[in-house]
Amino acid sequence: GVTMAKSKFEYVRDFEADDTCLPHCWVVVRLDGRNFHRFAEKHNFAKPNDSRALHLMTKCAQTVMGELEDIVIAYGQSDEYSFVFKRKSNWFKRRASKFMTLVASQFASSYVFYWRDFFEDQPLLYPPGFDGRVVVYPSNQTLKDYLSWRQADCHINNLYNTVFWALIQQSGLTPVQAQERLQGTLAADKNEILFSQFNINYNNEPLMYRKGTVLIWQKVDEVSTKEVKLPAEIEGTKMRVTRTRAKPLPLHCDIIGDAFWKEHPGILE
Ligand code: ATP
Ligand code: ATP
Ligand code: MG
Ligand code: MG
Ligand code: MG
Ligand code: MG
Repeated sequence: GVTMAKSKFEYVRDFEADDTCLPHCWVVVRLDGRNFHRFAEKHNFAKPNDSRALHLMTKCAQTVMGELEDIVIAYGQSDEYSFVFKRKSNWFKRRASKFMTLVASQFASSYVFYWRDFFEDQPLLYPPGFDGRVVVYPSNQTLKDYLSWRQADCHINNLYNTVFWALIQQSGLTPVQAQERLQGTLAADKNEILFSQFNINYNNEPLMYRKGTVLIWQKVDEVSTKEVKLPAEIEGTKMRVTRTRAKPLPLHCDIIGDAFWKEHPGILE
């Protein structure tokens, strides 16, 4: 904007806290839906997994990656999404509050903006909110462990929720009874209940539910029809133009093991 002459009030700027993220570190912003237990109920989310809601979350995350600078990977599950800014990013001088508020507001406005594309018959009843936090990770290993932690959380919750809701929806248990049935059970016990009581092999459940969603930049060929400038006699001719463009595309794969990072070495560059 226009540079203003300094007023005698200018000194108040010195009260702003310095929240510069440590240089050369990975900056992670994680958002989480505010009180989405209630939001899911009020908007009739399918239990345990509403795929419309998950796809809407991913659309919002893609919008964030497209609109903001320097995000190299994002990971989402349930009502949360994590965004990783590249180590050398100098966007807004690495100010944590700028990163966090721009991600959160872009995400929240996108959630409302795109709601109807995913929830055709379900009106949006009130404006949702998202909390945000910034965490700085000093090494590739700590960043990978962060993302592994979120995916492990996705797995643990989804296994639990899958059995919990099968007990309610298929065996007619109340939520309290289902919770009591699952108290103290290990993962193997939950798999066993699913298999013996409901004939569900957990490993055949949709990948998006079990693994969450990873967004990374991938090159895609875009074919468009364009009017091109050519010699006069064929002016106005439309031509198919193919150009390669990077887009944040979703994967539902394991990111805990080494394979993912070996397959995509560019992410941690
Ligand atoms: P940045 O992302 O750095 O904030 P910016 O373009 O938003 O960039 P600001 O210094 O915040 O820059 O200025 C906001 C600008 O938005 C104003 O300069 C003006 O052009 C426009 N603007 C905001 N509110 C109004 C309004 N009510 N009527 C007309 N113009 C407005
Ligand atoms: P807080 O404000 O503390 O985050 P919360 O109610 O959002 O409270 P979370 O731990 O974030 O609590 O859990 C999110 C809840 O939202 C889940 O437990 C689940 O009930 C619901 N939820 C989120 N996404 C989905 C979905 N895709 N399908 C079904 N339910 C969902
Ligand atoms: Mg502005
Ligand atoms: Mg929470
Ligand atoms: Mg939440
Ligand atoms: Mg959550």
